[in-house]
Parts: sequence; C-alpha cells; structure tokens
Amino acid sequence: MRAISHELKTPLNVIYGNLQLMESGLYGDISSLEEPVNEIKKEILRIRELIDNLIDLSRAETGRVSIKSELVYFENLYLIIESYRNLAKEKGLEFNFDFIGNSPFSSDYNILITIISNLLSNAVKYTEKGEIKGKIEVMEDKIIIEVKDTGKGIPLENIPLIFEPFYGERTSESSGLGLAIVKKFVELLKGSIFVESEVNKGSIFRVEIPRLIRPKSFEKKEHNY
Ligand code: ADP
Repeated sequence: MRAISHELKTPLNVIYGNLQLMESGLYGDISSLEEPVNEIKKEILRIRELIDNLIDLSRAETGRVSIKSELVYFENLYLIIESYRNLAKEKGLEFNFDFIGNSPFSSDYNILITIISNLLSNAVKYTEKGEIKGKIEVMEDKIIIEVKDTGKGIPLENIPLIFEPFYGERTSESSGLGLAIVKKFVELLKGSIFVESEVNKGSIFRVEIPRLIRPKSFEKKEHNY
C-alpha cells in the first residue's frame, strides 16, 4: 500500500506543484483561470485525502498499525478543532467543543486526530442548521470523544451500515471511508463506539477508548504542572 500510495501521490504532487508555478505567474498571467485552477487544486487535495484514507483503512484492517503511547496536550488538538469551527461557521452553524479533564494525557495522537476529524467532518457535512457540540473528556481509565449535531440524522436500520466502507452516497465531499476507519481504529484500541440518531433531528457519536499505558516521561512531566 505504501508503494502504491507513493506511485499515486507523486504525480499528484507534480500536478499540484505545476499549478502553483502557473499561479505564481511564471508562465504569464493566468488570473482569468483562477476558478478552474482552484477547482483542480481542490480535487487534487481530495484525491490525496482519499489515498491517505485508503491507506489508513488497509493498515487498520490488516492490523499493521503500531499504536503509540505518547503525551498529548489539549493544545495539540486546537488547530484541527479550529478548522472545523471555521467550516461550521461558514455554514452558519453554532460550534462548541469542550476539553474536560487532565492535559497532557497518554494516547496515540494520530489515531485520536483521525477519530475526531472524521466525526466533526461528518457533523458539519450532514448538518444544515443548528449546532455542533463536541467534547473530549479525559478520565482516569478512558478517553471519551463525543460529537453531537442537529443534522439530517440516520434511519435506525442504516446505523449498522454506516461503518461499512463505501456506504452512502458518493459526492465530491464523501469517500464513504471515514466511519469505517474510525471503527477499525476504535477496535484496535479496544474501545467502543455508540451512535444515537433521529432522522431530521440529529445524531450523537460517542467513542470510548481505554487510556494507554503512560509513557515513561509522563509522571515526571505531570509534576511540573
Ligand atoms: P462519508 O461521509 O465520506 O460518506 P462516512 O464513512 O464518514 O463516509 O459516513 C458514512 C455515511 O454515514 C455517510 O455517507 C452518511 O450517510 C452517514 N453519516 C455519517 N455521519 C453522519 C451524521 N453526523 N449525520 C448524518 N449522517 C451521517
């Protein structure tokens, strides 16, 4: 998968790089092409994300993900949360995200970010009015990630299906891999995922993952706070 990913991403990077050179004016004025150039760039980024998602899924499915126990600070998560706050704002949605408990805490940063991003991305994508409310709560024995929205909801009979790869409508915004990846990662961490949803009312996604063994430096650092 790594080799294939490389083969696919290299030409995309070349295309993207050339677009940037064109935009810089190196080949003359292309200001009249701003719109199509932006569209092409957007699609390139989308394909790159799809490739990354496919790799994540394949690694998680084959169990070839080494789980890292590292110190994560709430501050490490701010940037990604802010990007979803902006997307929500653009759609006129209220957005709140709470950080509860002790920071830093031990977890696998990349897995955590993947879970939070996918849940927030869906909440923004499938909500047209109202509010998105999220939280990360660090407890003694587990970490809870919860994302609530007031969006279109999911019919009860479809809830088991949403975790299947490629379930749902394929649009330029949805690859159908997000929740499949979340589920695999949650399973890998021996956690659980719960969904409550009502059509046209909204959904709640709640992930609980056990705390990882504390990294060696944890005790010492904790005393400094
Ligand atoms: P994608 O969003 O890329 O299609 P996902 O695996 O993230 O793929 O989600 C699968 C499907 O589950 C979506 O296509 C959508 O139908 C449904 N879904 C996921 N999250 C939500 C949500 N917050 N509200 C309503 N439907 C959702």
